[in-house]
Amino acid sequence: SRPDQPHEFETLLESVRLMHCDNHAGEVASYIPELSKASPEHFGLAMATIGGKLYTAGDAEAPFTIQSISKAFTFCLALEVAGHSAVLARVGVEPSGDAFNAIFFNPATNRPYNPMVNAGAITIAGLLCEELGSGAFDFVMDRLSAAAGRRLTLDDAVYRSESETGHRNRAIAYLLLANGALTVSPDEALDLYYRQCSISVTASDLARMGATLANMGENPATGAEAFELRAVRNTQAVMFTCGMYDYAGHWAYDIGVPAKSGVAGGILGVVNRQLGIATYSPRLDVKGNSVRGIASFETLADELGLHAFDCT
Ligand code: GLN
Repeated sequence: SRPDQPHEFETLLESVRLMHCDNHAGEVASYIPELSKASPEHFGLAMATIGGKLYTAGDAEAPFTIQSISKAFTFCLALEVAGHSAVLARVGVEPSGDAFNAIFFNPATNRPYNPMVNAGAITIAGLLCEELGSGAFDFVMDRLSAAAGRRLTLDDAVYRSESETGHRNRAIAYLLLANGALTVSPDEALDLYYRQCSISVTASDLARMGATLANMGENPATGAEAFELRAVRNTQAVMFTCGMYDYAGHWAYDIGVPAKSGVAGGILGVVNRQLGIATYSPRLDVKGNSVRGIASFETLADELGLHAFDCT
């Protein structure tokens, strides 16, 4: 039978941790020098319910940078701030099947395929700068903090490391400018993008942020309104089809919940109207997704019947 008691959730998370903690496959990301300092053995799991409860196992309070998981949230905020049609004029919602840092746009539109790859997320950052000016990062930080239920902070060292070494992202931003997808300067859009990626979170924070999405944008523990209702629906849809880069199809097939990964080793999954689930383990596979994170979600999906199209 499936767990339905609080202690059973804690026991389940701990058993998933034990099941996968001996998996040492994958590599910690090193292309952003500061990320290579992460402890490869860190492994945390957290699950937050829309009833406001949190269950954890392992290093659920270890801090790491949110990285690309921020892309789901900034997309959600851009839909609210700039409006749905303005967002969709700048970025598509089609899975690209490309790597996260691909320098490749939809040839029919000259726009990024979707907001979950770097090109799309830099476009969204530019749109937020256009709408909110120099207040854009504070706005993002405020809303992500409301979603997490605590004041989040910026990891300055990662932010500096990313800005100094992000040559590929700079190339992408200049192409976006050339295509008319950016109306602010590439530097302004990139600065917001590097900052949003460098927000420090824990697995517990991410699970709570996921529960806020699952709870239609309202933080279930604090009652704070973090996101707009309709934007939450559209965000989960894009997470479902594009959240795991060029593994997105496989993830939807096997695990079947909207999710987003980041190169620091976090994965956030959302079970709509039920749960936010987060894992943190920094060793990544070749597609940039956490190895133990994927394995843990596979086990949890089986044990809890999470798949959107489960019939049992
Ligand atoms: N900040 C990272 C980058 O742009 C985010 C990538 C990721 O998490 N996949 O390279």
